Amino acid sequence: MFTCEAADTSSEPQSNAAKSMKILAAEDNPISQSVLRSMLTKWGYEVIATGDGNEAWHILQSKDAPRIAILDWMMPGRDGVELCRNLRASGIEPYTYILLVTARTDSKDLVEAMDAGADDYLKKPFSALELRARLRAGQRIIELQEQLLIAREALRMRATHDGLTGLLNRSAIMETLRAELERSAREPKALSILMLDLDRFKQINDTYGHLAGDAILREASARMKATVRSYDSVGRYGGEEFLLVLPGCNSVGALALSERIRQCIAATRVPIGEQEITVTCSIGCASQSAEIPCDADSLLRLADRALYDAKNNGRNRVEPAGAVLLNL
Ligand SMILES: [Mg+2]
Repeated sequence: MFTCEAADTSSEPQSNAAKSMKILAAEDNPISQSVLRSMLTKWGYEVIATGDGNEAWHILQSKDAPRIAILDWMMPGRDGVELCRNLRASGIEPYTYILLVTARTDSKDLVEAMDAGADDYLKKPFSALELRARLRAGQRIIELQEQLLIAREALRMRATHDGLTGLLNRSAIMETLRAELERSAREPKALSILMLDLDRFKQINDTYGHLAGDAILREASARMKATVRSYDSVGRYGGEEFLLVLPGCNSVGALALSERIRQCIAATRVPIGEQEITVTCSIGCASQSAEIPCDADSLLRLADRALYDAKNNGRNRVEPAGAVLLNL
């Protein structure tokens, strides 16, 4: 499988990055596999070796699978090209870089391998030096892909989250509401929403300035997040208005949770510079149940009206929507 070259006898590991990088070596010839394994280990890779195509497929699908795979074309179980096709068809993320190795020399074979989804191709016998260089290229691709995934995740966060509070933004919380309504109709289960508005926020902004206003929005958001259950969603609906989606929560539960949130926000004053400001909120709750289903718009209207009642009835209070009473 290999040709020997003086430069490959070096025993220093390739790099720190390679040290921690897992690599799959799927080769059914025991001698070739043993040589491959010792070479990869010497270069600093963590080697997972197999001589069977089905086992290789199992390894590639596992959690924390190797990101680089050296696949022999001819193997029992399932061959290297089939493995390439399976892996690419599965769309598994993150990306696995595939280096296919084979004794086949026809250029038609090379085309078949690349069409199947191999990233690179080495003809046996190949030099260890060449293998090492090809693996370095593969590692660069994997590192680039990692950066791409991080950038994509950052973009996704920016597109779905509010920059100031870190909560879901308006479009994301609305999407959550629609998805949870669909789910609650399927299961079927109750679902409640809360519309929360900070009291006299304009006055806080006018008195203490916008930076203080921002700090209060952040603090109130943190208190909401800390009070809700882990599967509830909290979003900034607009300015100082928030929408909370509580899956599986009926009207009684929603009122109880609203009251806890109201108390949590009002209980401790928020330190702003030298001063401490009391912040309160008003909350309108609306619920739907299997018996009385609701669409997103009607539910929002109900919660909005209840919030309006809470404001009119003196603020720093929770009001259920009229329809909630039917559900009690
Ligand atoms: Mg073979």
